[in-house]
This record gives sequence, structure tokens and C-alpha cells, in this order.
Amino acid sequence: MSDPFIKAYLNISQPDWSKKIAPKVLAYMEKEEKRKQKIRSAFILIGSILLCGVILLFSSCAMTPARAEEIRLSKHFKQSEFACQCCGKTKVNIQLIIALKKLREKVKVPIIITSGYRCPLHNKEVGGAKYSQHCLGNAVDIKIKGYTPAQVARLAKECGFTWTKVYSSWTHIDIRI
Ligand SMILES: [Zn+2]
Ligand SMILES: [Zn+2]
Repeated sequence: MSDPFIKAYLNISQPDWSKKIAPKVLAYMEKEEKRKQKIRSAFILIGSILLCGVILLFSSCAMTPARAEEIRLSKHFKQSEFACQCCGKTKVNIQLIIALKKLREKVKVPIIITSGYRCPLHNKEVGGAKYSQHCLGNAVDIKIKGYTPAQVARLAKECGFTWTKVYSSWTHIDIRI
């Protein structure tokens, strides 16, 4: 018993110790015990909250993928390949994907898309036609290693593309009706 208050009480030797002093000491000790209990409870509560926070943080980290998964439009084409080069907006006609898929299966090598969707602003910037099929998500400009732009155009027609235009190093292909 290190508390000076209690020590003082215990040091007093009086005949009525058990009647008068002891209840006071006991009451004091009880009060002290309750105070300590409160502190312990508070520590346990704070500890639990912190532990829960740490668990939540770890689990949310574990569940969040390192980076957003690329959206695949088909086995060989990702949505990002069709995105407008100025703003990243994307609009792709499903018929364009179907025809590109056929072309990919035919050539069996990667198709490099040099231009996909173009927002009206970007289309103006690159000097595209006013009613460009690129702005409708109907067109792509492509390159295929091992094939000349003219060869690409011919193969594209066989795969369902309705319009092609051969340039010096690429081919414009689209599915206009
Ligand atoms: Zn844009
Ligand atoms: Zn084009």
C-alpha cells in the first residue's frame, strides 16, 4: 500500500479502528479500484477500435487491385486502344470490333491501331473529314506488320469492312453503312 492517504489511516492505532477507520479505508480502496477499472476499460476500448481500424485498412488494401483492370473488347483488343488521343473518351461500334476480330484471326499477328475514336475537337485538330467515321466510333486507322497498306485494305474488305482508304504507311478502315 503505497498511497500516503491509506498509509496515514493504517498508521493510526485506535481502539475503534475496525468500526470507524476500516470502512473509510475500504471505501477509498473500492473507489480507487473502480477508477483503475474505468481506465482499463478505456484502454481496452481504444485498443479494440485501433485494432479494428488496422484490420479494415489491411483488408481494404488487399481487396483493391493494384491498378484498374483494362477493359477488353475482344481477346486481342482493349478499350484503351480505341480511345481518343486528346481526351481519352471512347466510342466503339460493336460491328467494328467484330470485323477487327475477323481480321486479327486472318492475319494472326497484332493489329496496331494508330487512331480509333476521335472526339469532334481532336478530329478538327488532325484535319479529319467533317463527318468522319472516326467520330462515330465506326473507324480505325491500322498498321499490320508484314502487310502493305493496300494488302490490309483488301483483307479488311474480306472481313466485313465496308470502306477502306490506303495511305502511305497506314490504312483507314470503317464500317459505314
Ligand atoms: Zn478527344
Ligand atoms: Zn481514319
